[in-house]
Amino acid sequence: MVPQQIERDAFLDWVAQALKPRALDSQIQERVFARAMSSVEVLPSVLERQANQKEFALPIWEYLGIAASDRRIRNGRQMLRRHRDVLNRIEFAYGVEPGVITAIWGLETGYGEVRGEVPTLSALATLAFRGRRAPYFEDELIAALRLLQADDGAPEKLVGSWAGAIGHGQFMPSAVIGFAVDFDGDGRRDLCADDPTDALASIANYLHDHGWKKGQPWGFEVRLPGGFDYTLSGADQTRPSRDWAALGVIRADGGPIPDYGPGSILLPAGAGGVALLVLRNYRVITRYNRSQAYAIGVGHLSDRILGGPAFAGNWPATEPVLGQHEIGEAQNLLTCAGFDTEGVDGLRGPNTTRAVRAWQQANGAVPDGYISTDLLARLRADEANKSLDG
Ligand code: CA
Repeated sequence: MVPQQIERDAFLDWVAQALKPRALDSQIQERVFARAMSSVEVLPSVLERQANQKEFALPIWEYLGIAASDRRIRNGRQMLRRHRDVLNRIEFAYGVEPGVITAIWGLETGYGEVRGEVPTLSALATLAFRGRRAPYFEDELIAALRLLQADDGAPEKLVGSWAGAIGHGQFMPSAVIGFAVDFDGDGRRDLCADDPTDALASIANYLHDHGWKKGQPWGFEVRLPGGFDYTLSGADQTRPSRDWAALGVIRADGGPIPDYGPGSILLPAGAGGVALLVLRNYRVITRYNRSQAYAIGVGHLSDRILGGPAFAGNWPATEPVLGQHEIGEAQNLLTCAGFDTEGVDGLRGPNTTRAVRAWQQANGAVPDGYISTDLLARLRADEANKSLDG
């Protein structure tokens, strides 16, 4: 047999022996399951896309250059004007401002332009069968089957991103079930129609349910005082706004920090780059997508659409870029050296920032929690010396 045939047989075995019993246990009817799965196939392109996610692979400044490009800002302003009435009604109903809704819409699908053409069931089945985080995608596949069963929808009409997200706001099927709303009142929760009304209201509903605080920014750029204690930075550490102000932190424009409640100092490119004070709404955006770059991108795009300035600080743009593989290597070396990153995923998450900070403190480096090429080089050298000693 050729390899494709073996793979196809393994997939069909998985569908029959693992997926089907689980779907039936989840109250999916046998005829719904059979119809939905009849045209499902493994999509190798989906696995390739999963391995190359840009918000994780790009340095933050390049990601922000794409997320808040001149074109996306210009189009965002145009969309804000065009949909002003419906966005105002959505703000009234859900307490979420038009700027952030428009920014999420802009980042997810270019304001509805690119909603995705990948068959959702095949995408989810591929990731559940062979992808990373397979159990997560299997749950989403079951949710997609639930959606089809509830709406009596045609499986072939369910299309979206390579990761199984659908519509203007790229909701995963479980988010559709939990948070989609019928805002235009036609009796259907339609996130995929050309008219974005339901989709925009659903984004607002999602943010509202995850604790969005109306009248507050997501965060803003700050200037840190000379001699700032970098051990206080990182998303894992939160202090009241007035404490940051008392430590000498000011807004990038020189103004004082308003009392917005608790927040964290983020240094997305380390002490040599832009500093941010992020607030509660930043954390709400990370519930939409857990990547730090994404949340900063949404917040910044929202500000720019509303006329706010570009970041005033510099990025260390000449610094060589570390990929996910190298971040993973650093996590491994840190953990072996006794600074536990609580997992090796190649992402700059809060646990990794904490471990890096502790290593930097123990080794006399600026404790900004940032994995730079220098830091990776020192970790490698330490490891090599240890091997020689041993
Ligand atoms: Ca509707």
